[in-house]
Amino acid sequence: MFSNKDEFKLAFLERLERMHGKSFDQTSKQDQFQTLGTMVRESISGQWIQTNEQYRMNQEKQVYYLSIEFLLGRLLKQNLMNLGCLDIVEDGLKDLGIHIEDIDDMEDDAGLGNGGLGRLAACFLDSLASLAYPGHGMGIRYRHGLFEQRIVDGFQVELPEQWLKTGYVWEVRKSDLACNVPFWGTVEVKLEMGKETYRHVDAEYVSAVPHDMPVVGAGNETINTLRLWNAEPTTLRIPGNVLKYKRETEQITEFLYPDDTHDEGKILRLKQQYFLVSASLQTIIKQFLTQHKDIKLLPRYVHIQINDTHPSLAVPELMRLLLDEHSLSWEEAYQITQTTLSYTNHTTLSEALEKWPEDLFQRLLPRIYMIVKECNERFCQELWEKYPGDWSRIERMAIIAHNQIKMAHLAIYGSYRVNGVARLHTEILKHREMREFYEWRPEKFCNQTNGITHRRWLLKANPSLTKLLTEKIGKDFIKEPSALEKLHHFRNDSGVLQSLYDIKKNNKISLSNFYFKTTGQLINPDSIYDVQIKRLHAYKRQLLNVFHIFYLYQQLEENKSLTITPRTFIFGAKASPGYYFAKKVIKLIHSLQRKIQANPRIREMISIVFMENYRVSLAERIIPAADVSEQISTASKEASGTGNMKLMMNGALTIGTLDGANVEIAERVGPENIYLFGLTSEEVMRYDQEGGYVSTDYYHHDSRIKNVMEALQSDFFGHEREQFDMIVDALMSHNDQYFVLRDFSSYVDTQKRLADDFQKDSLQWQQKCLVNIAESGYFSSDRTIDSYANEIWGLTREVRV
Ligand SMILES: *Cc1c(COP(=O)(O)O)cnc(C)c1O
Repeated sequence: MFSNKDEFKLAFLERLERMHGKSFDQTSKQDQFQTLGTMVRESISGQWIQTNEQYRMNQEKQVYYLSIEFLLGRLLKQNLMNLGCLDIVEDGLKDLGIHIEDIDDMEDDAGLGNGGLGRLAACFLDSLASLAYPGHGMGIRYRHGLFEQRIVDGFQVELPEQWLKTGYVWEVRKSDLACNVPFWGTVEVKLEMGKETYRHVDAEYVSAVPHDMPVVGAGNETINTLRLWNAEPTTLRIPGNVLKYKRETEQITEFLYPDDTHDEGKILRLKQQYFLVSASLQTIIKQFLTQHKDIKLLPRYVHIQINDTHPSLAVPELMRLLLDEHSLSWEEAYQITQTTLSYTNHTTLSEALEKWPEDLFQRLLPRIYMIVKECNERFCQELWEKYPGDWSRIERMAIIAHNQIKMAHLAIYGSYRVNGVARLHTEILKHREMREFYEWRPEKFCNQTNGITHRRWLLKANPSLTKLLTEKIGKDFIKEPSALEKLHHFRNDSGVLQSLYDIKKNNKISLSNFYFKTTGQLINPDSIYDVQIKRLHAYKRQLLNVFHIFYLYQQLEENKSLTITPRTFIFGAKASPGYYFAKKVIKLIHSLQRKIQANPRIREMISIVFMENYRVSLAERIIPAADVSEQISTASKEASGTGNMKLMMNGALTIGTLDGANVEIAERVGPENIYLFGLTSEEVMRYDQEGGYVSTDYYHHDSRIKNVMEALQSDFFGHEREQFDMIVDALMSHNDQYFVLRDFSSYVDTQKRLADDFQKDSLQWQQKCLVNIAESGYFSSDRTIDSYANEIWGLTREVRV
C-alpha cells in the first residue's frame, strides 16, 4: 500500500484535510480513523478486482460460507498487518504524534454475532484469504449487532449497539446487484405440456442489497469478499399498506438475535434465514452462469458450506432454483443439491435444534414448503425401503413430524458432508445424537476440529510474544503455524522461560492499566490471572467457578492466619436478555465481588474482576494476560470451544473438563501440562440417560458445598438474598442439570494443585506454558481450512502471488 513512511505521511495528511475540511491539528481521532480506514480500503480495490478476475480466468471452484453470524471485531490493524504495512503506518503516525492504538480504539467492533459460532466464521474468512482459497462469506448486515452490555448495581443492562452510526469504512454498497426475495402469497400450479409448473403469486418482495467487505489475505495479494445483505423495500409491486410494508421490511435486518442456543420461535427469525439464503443462492447461481452454460456443472465449480442449521433453507432454495428456474427433474436437482451443499453442526443441546411450526412455515414460504414436503415424502419412502416396518425410526428421522419442520434433518438430507467441530463432538453425533442418520449414510459424516486465526490471536493480540518467537524459532510459524513446535527445543532454556514470564507480566500490567483507565479500579499484576471469558450459559458453568471463589472466601474468613497465592478471577460474559438464570449468575458474581472488596485482608488474596461488554476487541486485551484458562463446561455439552485455543496459544494453562476440543488440547500437551478434572462425557451421558444422580446427596455429604449453599440462602448478601433463589432451585430442586455439585470437589482439588504449582516453581510453570504455545499451531484455523478444502470442498491450494 505504501512503500515508505514519508509517502504514507504525505498521503495521510492530504487526505485527512480533504475529507474533513479541517487542518490537521483540528481533526479528531475519529476523523483520523475514518481517513486511514478509507485509504486502506481504497488502496486495495485494485487487488480486490484482480483477485476476482483471476478466479474467473482460471475458472476456479468457489466456496461460499453461509452464516447468520460473523463476529469480525476490528479490522484496521488486522488489514494493515495482512497487507504488510502496519510498521510503516505505525511509524508514520508516530512522527505525526499519533499512537496507532488511539486510532484503533475509534473503530467499533463489527459484532454481528453472539459468540463462538460467529467468531469461527470470521477466523475462517481470514484463513481462506490468507491461504489464497477462493472462499467468500455471505451473511446479514444487522443494523444493530449484539447488544452493548453495561453493569448497573451488579445487574446486566442491555443497550442497542450502534456500529453503523459513523458510517462503516470497510463496506461498499452495491445497489445494482440487489435481488428480490419473496414472502407470503400462494403457489399456482399449472400443467404445461404434461409437466407441472409452479408460480409464486401475490408475494411480498423484499430487496436484498449487498454490502461487500474486502477480506484481506496475509502477504499474498488475495482479497476475497464478505457479502452482507441489507433488507430494503422494493419498487416491485408494493402491496397495500406502504408504511407497514416498509417497517416490516427494514425489520428483517434490524437486529441480531441475542441468543446463541435456544431456538427463538419467531417468524422474524425465519424471515432472516430465508432472506440470507435466497439472496445468496440467487447471486451464486447468477455468478456461476456468467461463466458456465450448463447448470449441471454447478457442483464442479461451487461448494456452499452451511454454518449450523440457520442457513439450512439452502436445501429447498437450491432445489427450487433448479426445478422452477432451470427446469431440472427432481432427481437431477437433488443430485446437484446434495453434492453442492455441506452442513456443519455446532451443538447437541436439544433446545438449540431448530424447528419451525409447519403452518407458519407454509404461509411465509409457500413454494419452499412444498419442496420440503416432497423432500420429506421421498426421504421417508427411502427409509421405508431400507428399514421396512420400522415406523418409529422413520418418525424420529423424518424432516416433518408432529407439525414441525426439523432443520437439522433437512440439512443432513440435502448435504454432501455433515461435520462436527471437534473429534469428541463428531463421535457423539455419529454414535448418539445422529446415530440413525449415521447408519443411513455413514459416508456423509466427518470431523473438522475448529481453529482460530493465529494472525489475530497471536501476531496481532500479542506482539511481544510474537517477537520472542520470531527471535527464537524464526518466522516460519507465521506461514506454517505447526512450526511453533520448534519452541520445544527451548523447554529447558531458562532465558527463554524467563522471557515468557516477563512478557506475560507486561501483558498483565497492560491489562491492569486498561482496567484502571476504564474503571478506576486496580488489579494486582502479581496475582494469578484466572480467566473465564465466554457467553454466560448454565452448561459453561461460570457457577462452578463462582462456587470455588465462594469456598476460598469462606476458608479465608474462617481461618484468619491462612494465606493463599493471590488470585484475580476475571470474567467476561454477556447473558442473553431473556435468560434469567444467566443474569442471576452475573448478579452473583458482582455480589460476591462486593463482599470480597469489603474485607481488606481477604481482598489481598482473592479478587473478582468483571469486564463489561465482552467482545472481540476486549478478548484481544485479556487473552495475552491470562495465566489460567477456565474451560469447565459439563463434559459432552461444549461442541468444541475456541476460547480454549486462543488462551492456549498465548501461554495460559487450561483447567478444564474432557469436553470439546479440550480433549485434543490435552492429548497434544500431555496430562502434566493441563489441569483436568470432573466427569467424563461418558459418565455425563450415562447419568443423562439412566439417571442416578442426586444433587442433594452432595449437598449433605460435602460441608464445603453445604456452607456455600447456606450462605446463598442466608443474609450473607443482606437484602439481596432472594436474588439467588433461582440458582439454589436449579441446583437443589431441579437436581443440578449440569453437575456443578457433582464436579465441585474434583474442581476444588485441581484448583489447589494448580495454585501450588504456580507458587512453587515459576520456571516449571513457564515450561508448561511453553509446551502449550508450542502445541497450539495445530489449532490454527489454517489447518482447519486446509482440511475442509481437502475433505469437503474439493479445493486445491493454489500458489498465487
Ligand atoms: C472466541 C470467542 C468466543 C468463544 O469463546 P468460547 O470460550 O469458545 O465459548 C466468544 N466470544 C468472543 C468475543 C470470542 O472472541
